[in-house]
Amino acid sequence: MMRQVELVESVLEYDPDADEDLLNRAYVFTVKVHGSQTRASGDPYFSHPIEVAGILTRFKLDTDTIATALLHDTIEDTVADYDQIEEHFGPQVAKLVDGVTKLSKLELQSDHTKQAENFRKLLLAMSDDIRVLLVKLADRLHNMRTLHYLDSEQKRRRIASETMEIYAPLAERIGMHDIKDELQDLAFTQLNGEGRGSIIRRLDFLRASGDDTVDRVSAQLQNTLAEAGIEAEVMGRLKRPYSIWRKMQLNSVSFEQLSDVIAFRILVKDQATCYQTLGAVHAAYPMVPGRFKDYISTPKRNNYQSLHTSVIGPDKLRIEMQIRTHSMHEIAEYGVAAHWMYKQSNGKPLREGVQYRWIRELLEIMENTSDPEEFLEHTKLSMFQDQVFCFSPKGDLIALPQGGTPVDFAYAVHTDLGNSCVSARVNGRNVPLREQLHNGDQVEIIRSENQTPSPTWENFVVTGRARSAIRRFIRQQERSEYVALGRQIIDQTFISEGHEVNDKMLESVLSSTKRKDLDDLLGGVGRGELTGRDVLDAAYPSERIKSVIGRVVPLSRVRGRKAKPAPAVPIRGLAPGMAVHMSQCCHPLPGERIVGIVTVGKGITIHTADCDVLKQFSDTPERWINVAWDPERDGNTDQVARIETVVTHEPGALSRLTAVIAQNAGNISNLRITDRSSEFFEMKVDIEVRDVHHLSDIITALRAEPQISSVERVRG
Ligand code: MN
Repeated sequence: MMRQVELVESVLEYDPDADEDLLNRAYVFTVKVHGSQTRASGDPYFSHPIEVAGILTRFKLDTDTIATALLHDTIEDTVADYDQIEEHFGPQVAKLVDGVTKLSKLELQSDHTKQAENFRKLLLAMSDDIRVLLVKLADRLHNMRTLHYLDSEQKRRRIASETMEIYAPLAERIGMHDIKDELQDLAFTQLNGEGRGSIIRRLDFLRASGDDTVDRVSAQLQNTLAEAGIEAEVMGRLKRPYSIWRKMQLNSVSFEQLSDVIAFRILVKDQATCYQTLGAVHAAYPMVPGRFKDYISTPKRNNYQSLHTSVIGPDKLRIEMQIRTHSMHEIAEYGVAAHWMYKQSNGKPLREGVQYRWIRELLEIMENTSDPEEFLEHTKLSMFQDQVFCFSPKGDLIALPQGGTPVDFAYAVHTDLGNSCVSARVNGRNVPLREQLHNGDQVEIIRSENQTPSPTWENFVVTGRARSAIRRFIRQQERSEYVALGRQIIDQTFISEGHEVNDKMLESVLSSTKRKDLDDLLGGVGRGELTGRDVLDAAYPSERIKSVIGRVVPLSRVRGRKAKPAPAVPIRGLAPGMAVHMSQCCHPLPGERIVGIVTVGKGITIHTADCDVLKQFSDTPERWINVAWDPERDGNTDQVARIETVVTHEPGALSRLTAVIAQNAGNISNLRITDRSSEFFEMKVDIEVRDVHHLSDIITALRAEPQISSVERVRG
């Protein structure tokens, strides 16, 4: 255990301006409050926070971080509380200690390995100050170093696999390679002691056979470089047992086949010298093809820079080599902690060069902002900062984008849960469905079988999954609206032609109309993909020829159908019993000026006086008949008018359209959607009306509806 004076001195060594008094007080405080508590090793408990602080001095971290390390278990394990820490050590340290405490409380609630990635992200997202994470990693490192003191094998294994799955990858992600290597090796010892032992024995054998290979190759390399006039620091090492094990596993090779267990690192003064060194090494030893990588011209995402190559060294040993500058090395070894060293390089100006820019930027951000999110964004951890991670009651971790709500959460668990959610409890408290969730929230969804998704949910959900499920549901609802509308249109068409209609008969026309089932047929008619007339023609193909030519309605039949005493077609100037039909091009209405055209064998077609089609008959005046609407008619024989309308695309809008027409005594005989966007429907609707005034009443009533944005009468 580091003594008080040793710890303080090691900090002062890299930071002469460090707050000595704060460090001393933190040391004394932790010894006092942990008091007689002991560790599994039998050591006093306070030895642990002191060791953790010691680990962090290796990364040359600032006073606040070292003090946080000393105090990191006091809130959780002793009588000390947040206020006390704040009072004695200031708000910064209190906040950091609180952050570490929160991380420690998060236990991996579910032991599914698939959760590991989410759990790592949760830790990152919760470490809104990167120093919290550094302390947590050092804490875990010391606990792993003393893991063997724990009696329970089960507990040791759990902690070791958690380290392997969660903490080692975390250390790697933020660039703390040293910590990652050691964590992996300690966990490996616990999880597969035999495997590790066998590798150590082989390494020992390699070391014992002949002289020390690492030293010998190292000396040779030094010579080679010196001859080329390159000043370099050469460091050789046998690879860590765990990384050798991994390599053997990944490549399914035996230890004998695995020659590159030795790795060298060559540190030089600048970038140009890196390439010069590479040239000298390749000139001296044959390179292994396919292993060269230039991470200097193309740095890794975490700003790692280095040249990698493999050569066949002395004794035909394959040797891995990394060539980089000293500053690249610091970034590679210490990751995000590296910038603290620059911060601590008091007085010394930052060295120039593009590769330092991100460090300078980090420093500026750290010094000029207290906004941890902005800091994290620049440390490339932003990918976790824009997510929130919440627990299900079973302990599963659900990742959502920032701003995620209970509805997003419910849909992330299961579509059925989303479709039936009525409210939510977050950390035991009832919250509205639109409430934004936070990291670590425990979310319970309350469901009801009677609930259906509300279109208003779309305004606050943030996941595509929730949004598309809500839309899918609403489309489904719309579909049933179309089915009902289609049924209405078909009923009317059939009755107007004097036919009965039932489902059995409609089913018989499915194949000829290329519809897969009854709903598809009805919905198709409702959407206007086919008309009621099409269905009728399919049901009674023999009558089809008539409908192709025109809608010829014998007077007697019209009379019979409507069972009214008044003249069926209220037009004067025609011989009784004469077949007459209204043209489909202009839809003449009572009240308008009309003209009759005789079609031989088919009767008379009525057009409006201004219909364009009449031009076709301009050279056959003998076919023109002077007709007029009969003012005496009783108004029970409706004519079809056509309107074009634009309706807002929202639930209920279509039924509103049909309701308004029905309330005004109009009858929809056909409806066809001509255009459809995410916001509007454009459609043509055929309505049976008494006369032109009736139509204008309906149009006016429709125009008064907020969901209907325009209505016009159309011809043709
Ligand atoms: Mn601890």
